[in-house]
Amino acid sequence: MDFPDFSLDTSLLEKAKEPEPEVIYDLLIVGGGPAAMSAAVYAARKMMNLAIITKDFGGQIRETSEVENWLGFQSINAKDLADSFEEHVKGFDIPVSLGASITEVKREVHAFKVLTDDSKIYSSRTLIIATGKRHRPLNVPGEKELVGRGVAYCATCDAPFFKGKKVVVAGGGNSAFTTAVDLLKVGAEVILVNFIKGWQADESLQERMKQTDNVNLLDYHQVVKIEGKDSVTGVVVKNRENEKEEKIDANGVFIEIGLLPNNEPIKNLVELNEQGEVIVDCSCKTSVEGLFGAGDVTTVPHKQIVISAGEGAKAALSAYNYLINKFLI
Ligand SMILES: Cc1cc2nc3c(=O)[nH]c(=O)nc-3n(C[C@H](O)[C@H](O)[C@H](O)COP(=O)(O)OP(=O)(O)OC[C@H]3O[C@@H](n4cnc5c(N)ncnc54)[C@H](O)[C@@H]3O)c2cc1C
Repeated sequence: MDFPDFSLDTSLLEKAKEPEPEVIYDLLIVGGGPAAMSAAVYAARKMMNLAIITKDFGGQIRETSEVENWLGFQSINAKDLADSFEEHVKGFDIPVSLGASITEVKREVHAFKVLTDDSKIYSSRTLIIATGKRHRPLNVPGEKELVGRGVAYCATCDAPFFKGKKVVVAGGGNSAFTTAVDLLKVGAEVILVNFIKGWQADESLQERMKQTDNVNLLDYHQVVKIEGKDSVTGVVVKNRENEKEEKIDANGVFIEIGLLPNNEPIKNLVELNEQGEVIVDCSCKTSVEGLFGAGDVTTVPHKQIVISAGEGAKAALSAYNYLINKFLI
């Protein structure tokens, strides 16, 4: 019996470090967060001929400091956790295009074509999209112009720069409140600005904040403008009850108003929900045959590390089953 060249040969694991454009891989994994890394481990252990294309390893884990809900650890340093995932993946000698961003995916008759921002085209029979989410911008005047000069999106990365400063945090959920906690730790004065009426953060965080000095809570207010020439000097907020605007002198603005799925490369190919998340079934199948989705970029609820890792594992096993059924049976 003649089988096509989908092979379970172990020698496939001894390969070049960079993916090769001339190879048609069994599987390409896009992303380097927990979903993609878990998928890579499962696919490698199934001896699939795979490659990874990612901007970085770690994804959103690198934006936080401690993780307290990764099974087996009461608390683990987020960088250590991300590093241990990365090390596990690297133990399999999988070709990785690190630092590359995919810009488009095309479905051709027998393969997916994946285009990258460094003008490479890779091919594969199956694809796992695990590109996660990114911070939603406020889209107000001054935001883009002052990014990195007072406007920030990641407290773990940037809070230490605001030691003793006055900082506005836009948002009313857990992320905004934990950002405020990080800023208070470095001695900043914090003004939390919540667009929707009523704070969304956990009660315990709200209580803690209400009892803390150096925090001002502005509920039902809107950030309308960020001011400053070389760096942030102030923020204009509008009271949504009475429409009155007020300028707050501030040295920084942290924007914590949610996340957007990184769906751009596949948004014209697969079905998305209203939030732009890739619709997947419980086997991580998308609307396109051979294309699987995993983690935060998908419709799977509860965006968490353990859930993304589980979904990545499922996506890899589903891709493997798909290949076996399509090419070997
Ligand atoms: C501040 C913060 C704190 C958090 N704390 C916790 C916590 O304590 N516990 C918990 O369980 N969860 C926490 N989370 C959520 C958790 O980090 C995410 O649910 C998880 O990282 C999602 O994993 P993912 O692999 O789906 O996506 P991501 O982690 O978003 O990874 C996506 C990956 O895809 C890459 N990528 C994106 N677009 C492209 C492209 N076009 N081409 C190539 N590569 C691309 C990215 O660079 C990244 O490597 C936190 C999140 C944040 C932001």
